[in-house]
Amino acid sequence: MATATTEVPKGKLLVKNIGLMLTGALENPISDADAILAVDGKINAVGKLAELDTEGVDVTVDAMGSALCPGLIDSHVHPVIGDWTPRQSQINWIDSYMNGGVTTMISAGEVHLPGRPKDVVGLKAMAITAQRAFSNFRPGGVKIHAGAPVLEEGMVEEDFKDLADSGVKLLGEVGLGGVKQGDEAKKMVAWARKYGIQSTIHTGGPSIPGSGLIDADVVLEADADVIGHINGGHTALPLDQIRCLCEGCTRSVEIVHNGNEVAALFAMRTSMELGQPERIILGTDSPAGSGAQPLGILRMVALLSGIGDVDAEIAFCFATGNTARQRELDCGLIEVGRVADFVIMDRAQHSAGKDILDSVRQGDLPGISMVIIDGVVRCGRSRNTPPAERLAAVVS
Ligand SMILES: [Zn+2]
Repeated sequence: MATATTEVPKGKLLVKNIGLMLTGALENPISDADAILAVDGKINAVGKLAELDTEGVDVTVDAMGSALCPGLIDSHVHPVIGDWTPRQSQINWIDSYMNGGVTTMISAGEVHLPGRPKDVVGLKAMAITAQRAFSNFRPGGVKIHAGAPVLEEGMVEEDFKDLADSGVKLLGEVGLGGVKQGDEAKKMVAWARKYGIQSTIHTGGPSIPGSGLIDADVVLEADADVIGHINGGHTALPLDQIRCLCEGCTRSVEIVHNGNEVAALFAMRTSMELGQPERIILGTDSPAGSGAQPLGILRMVALLSGIGDVDAEIAFCFATGNTARQRELDCGLIEVGRVADFVIMDRAQHSAGKDILDSVRQGDLPGISMVIIDGVVRCGRSRNTPPAERLAAVVS
């Protein structure tokens, strides 16, 4: 099951009897389609089964009336190498997240590498190595966008050009390295953006001994693409500063599992009040001091829906389509041409909710019965979620 394949297999996949299709799109979070076709790993058609061209299907999945959602995206992880994290001395954590519905992860910096180099040549080499290694190695099939260098003093514009030319597309959290001043961060973030490198900034108090505070003034001045863990990782800024961040810019509002839950709910509500729900994206900020959370993204969906009083189908958009759009990924939405990354799930057994959406709204996690990445079944019944009531099955 723990395949590390990177090739996209050829073939035609049909998923039928979908009882609820969650699209990942805020403007239309639920579709009335009941079937989906994928060809060579990409969504080819979505609609009623009778309308689809099912000629020559290689694999048919019967969802048995369960819900289908785009694969979940974790906007904030700290991978190091392979499926191993030295932070908590765990192996197979990424495969375990796949069992929690996560099909795409975005690195916020490979900062837990023992002996992480902080000189400019070393940090560039490490970022390029991580980008290459995770392009070639996908535990459980999970797509890991890695190779996210942490800014250090002394970097010049040419370094960002070199990184971009070498395939690096992300910056690790600004503020985790030596660059912590707003003006210096702003200059480097702008260089990164000029060469097509997306940036994230650490927000809030220090994460572990040795890291530092980044307050709202620095976040606004640096102007990174993503306000990383706006709810702290774990220590949050005062709520009035979080409001300033939401009101003072239009950048992505990233809410994480390993943060402050009070601040998480405040950031979400503030974004909603501003009429900007599309800015809300979710991550775990793991592995970290709080550990690895295979179900972290599902837990965020249940927290924001249950306590934050948001419809579950909207909360699922935060974990899928919003992140795909904000970060310009080819996944996260049920749309023809997007990659065929799906999670099939149902109400957990014995949940008090009357159906899956109601159960999430009441704070329960759904049960996952299948994860599909690039049109390929990567796992059947999840080993991590509570058991789903109805289970999808490969029927031919
Ligand atoms: Zn951080």
